[in-house]
Amino acid sequence: ATTLPWGDMRQSYDGLPERFYAPPELSPVADARLIHLNRPLAAELGLDADWLAGPDGVAMLSASHMPQGVRPLALAYAGHQFGHFVSRLGDGRALLLGDVRDIHGREREIQIKGSGRTAFSRRGDGRAALGPVLREYLLSESMAALGVPTTRALAALRTGETVMREKPLPGGMIVRVAASHIRVGTFQYFAARQDVAGLRLLADFAIARHAPEAAGATHPYVAFLQGVVAAQAGLVAHWMLIGFIHGVMNTDNMAISGETIDYGPCAFMDQYDPATVFSFIDEHGRYAYTNQPSIALWNLTRLAEALLPLLSEDEDQAVEYAQQALAGFHARFHDAYFAGMRAKLGLEGEDTQDETLFHALLETMQATQADFTNTFRALSSGAVIDAATSADWPPAMAEAFAPWLAQWRQRIALHGTATAEERAARMRAVNPCYIPRNHLVEAMITAAIEHDDYAPFEEMLAVLAKPYETQPGRDHFAAPPTPQERVQYTYCG
Ligand code: AMP
Ligand code: MG
Ligand code: MG
Repeated sequence: ATTLPWGDMRQSYDGLPERFYAPPELSPVADARLIHLNRPLAAELGLDADWLAGPDGVAMLSASHMPQGVRPLALAYAGHQFGHFVSRLGDGRALLLGDVRDIHGREREIQIKGSGRTAFSRRGDGRAALGPVLREYLLSESMAALGVPTTRALAALRTGETVMREKPLPGGMIVRVAASHIRVGTFQYFAARQDVAGLRLLADFAIARHAPEAAGATHPYVAFLQGVVAAQAGLVAHWMLIGFIHGVMNTDNMAISGETIDYGPCAFMDQYDPATVFSFIDEHGRYAYTNQPSIALWNLTRLAEALLPLLSEDEDQAVEYAQQALAGFHARFHDAYFAGMRAKLGLEGEDTQDETLFHALLETMQATQADFTNTFRALSSGAVIDAATSADWPPAMAEAFAPWLAQWRQRIALHGTATAEERAARMRAVNPCYIPRNHLVEAMITAAIEHDDYAPFEEMLAVLAKPYETQPGRDHFAAPPTPQERVQYTYCG
């Protein structure tokens, strides 16, 4: 590790052959300014926040000038984009600064997105617009506060330059932190080249970083695949339980670590509809809310295919190992999802009718166009359990929900030992009051890019840091959009 003014850092990928990455030419930006530095995260990473906020720190975070000893890299990867394989994608607008050991002893990578052109840029400009930078910052930090595994945001910057998208937009950069940036698509990159030696080096690197216990297994690569399958099943169950829609679950956007990565056109659902899609480019709804578990399994199947040469020397045996590992997905997903739904509904124990109860709730929510987040939060108020006509619920909704509420009360009585207050408190700890409502995210972006006003960004960040606590005077952040406020599409960029 190199000791730098701001902390210790290494570049672990330096230990891998040159075909894994491309060293970049830096392209300094006109006028880099820090919008927000995540000081608590900097402290967790053992970094000197004051140095990062100073001129040398901003020069590094904006990929304009590197301190001595920092050797950033653009990583190679491939990927299936909307089902179509592209054998060479890679960091076309991102640079990996290096990795640090955080105060908990975990390896964390620091990457700049929007850093300029690299060997992987193809026709792209290597840059990011400020709007998507602020969206990623807010959504990834909100996910972390909600308890979902995710990349984190260390800093957001303006570049002082304009980027051309559908129209000219202010440029930005996000500095993000991940357990690693290895994706399903990284394995596909080497598999597509029939580079088994590269594949093995990558798998060994990933095992050392993410699954050291797999190294001691009888079949380390099979154990590694099983671990990735389990992590992704748990992750997607988590998304489903909070109404999160990733929006672009291409195989290059699925991290081996099990962290949510690549906050492009993602958004949280307001009214419950399983077919919800936000991404403008997802014309056919491939990445709709309800498709996320099956897409995760599809992506994992691509990972298993890429890993086949490592699973066994015997081809049939390799396929059998792959199928066994993939077969674990359903059970892991259902266990995590059902356990999560029971917690959301304050249910103790397990009952054979639970799945029916969950379906009936979701059907009622869909039929009444109920807000996903607020329905669960209302159920957590404690009052609903005693009177279906609680003040929180409009009369029409209370009427539609009455039969389901009766079933729910029966189920609680069946195995319940907690008092009503205990149950409500536990439910409020898993049913958020505040999610990053898409219409508010869009309004926050408009304020920033049109009026240079970052107050809405800062305020949302503060509210979303405590998503499970009712915050007086912040009702506005918990309210669903009015029909006029509803935002239909999100864009990457
Ligand atoms: P994404 O859809 O953000 O996951 O990106 C898919 C691929 O396109 C990755 O290889 C990115 O590095 C690349 N890419 C996206 N936007 C740009 C850009 N503005 N300039 C260069 N490459 C880009
Ligand atoms: Mg991506
Ligand atoms: Mg992206």
